[in-house]
Amino acid sequence: MDKLIKQLQVDFPALLFTPGRQFAWSPETDEIIYKSSATGPKATWSLLHETGHALLKHKGYKADFELLRLETEAWQRARQLAAESDLSIDEDHIEDCLDTYRDWLYKRSICPTCTAKCLQQGDFVHYRCFNCHTTWRVTASRFCRAYRSTKHIPQFSSVL
Ligand SMILES: [Zn+2]
Ligand SMILES: [Zn+2]
Repeated sequence: MDKLIKQLQVDFPALLFTPGRQFAWSPETDEIIYKSSATGPKATWSLLHETGHALLKHKGYKADFELLRLETEAWQRARQLAAESDLSIDEDHIEDCLDTYRDWLYKRSICPTCTAKCLQQGDFVHYRCFNCHTTWRVTASRFCRAYRSTKHIPQFSSVL
């Protein structure tokens, strides 16, 4: 991974790579945070993914569904980066990651009273059930990093 960081740093001198506890893109500070203890192909893929967010200058999102779009775009950019470095990213891994976000979005949009699938309200903080008119609040949308590997319960950080 060190080799890849060095190469990305040469290709994109403006990018800032900072070691940390987990992989993330921090739009507030313009930093790509990488888990310095991580090794193996998944670490490489995560690094490319976060670099994708950085190169696409992802800043934030309002509606929940936008997050899925940005995640998809970041993986698309990561695929290009991988190809340029003679690497490849396992498509199953990408799908697993996106599924985590899909699950998360789905769970947020289910009415707690009648389990109808509902739409997020214009304030992006509430959902309202078209069926039973229950309104519920979701945590303000922020870029989150979700990990499907942990018992299918997504974990979130405050950064992307
Ligand atoms: Zn991401
Ligand atoms: Zn309902």
